[in-house]
Amino acid sequence: MGRVAIVTGGTRGIGAAVSKALSEAGYEVAACYAGNEEKAKAFTAETGIPAYKWDVCDFAACEEGVRRVEADLGPVEILVNNAGITRDAMFHKMTAEQWNAVITTNLSGLFNMTRPVWDGMRERGFGRVVNISSINGQKGQMGQANYSAAKAGDIGFTKALAQEGAKKGITVNAICPGYINTDMMATIPEEVMQKQIVAHIPVGRLGEAYEVARCVLFLVSDESAFITGATLTANGGQYLA
Ligand code: NDP
Repeated sequence: MGRVAIVTGGTRGIGAAVSKALSEAGYEVAACYAGNEEKAKAFTAETGIPAYKWDVCDFAACEEGVRRVEADLGPVEILVNNAGITRDAMFHKMTAEQWNAVITTNLSGLFNMTRPVWDGMRERGFGRVVNISSINGQKGQMGQANYSAAKAGDIGFTKALAQEGAKKGITVNAICPGYINTDMMATIPEEVMQKQIVAHIPVGRLGEAYEVARCVLFLVSDESAFITGATLTANGGQYLA
């Protein structure tokens, strides 16, 4: 049996590609999702990877979700904090709801998911935590004060936790994807996509979800034990941090 991995937001987009890549590499994967039953069912039917519904904004639900996965598959040794949302608005129009939804999902979600698996990782002396941040957490993005703040916070969380986990065999790393071709991008008007996004990506295209999954595979492997607290960018050359 391979190591057990939880991928939050693991049934769609980047998360689905991560779940599939891990499963194909021999890991036992549990994919968590928020509420899109149709996509989750189709994902499990296609891949055979079990999908579990819980909300990463809810700490008690995360504890319960981790317990369910551990009862079904065994101790969680790998956590990919991928679940995320956008609620874009210029700051002068941003509501408290838009701010709170994005911070709670994209930043507090990392606490809510990592805390329940952390003690077990420490006890067993092995763990891999990969946090999916964003290019816009590195460079900031107009219309995304909430998202940029949360994603920059993910990087700070990664660096602090890497130092705490190091002596216990736990690595904690962040990946900053650039613009990746998923449902999240579907909300962006085509003209904005071409003129304001693709035009600024040196490789001349959006990234694909499997290209982020490859970064995850690298970071979670047993052989990546010396890589911790790192931020791996996968952005087609758009922003060189
Ligand atoms: P998608 O919108 O395609 O998928 C998001 C996934 O997260 C879904 O599975 C969704 O579940 C799940 N999710 C959302 N909120 C919650 C929640 N509260 N609890 C549990 N699960 C939740 O997103 P992407 O694949 O595009 O993005 C994945 C990650 O990558 C995000 O963190 C995003 O910020 C980041 N990212 C994406 C980029 C891109 O260009 N796409 C660029 C840089 C970073 P359900 O299916 O049930 O709705």
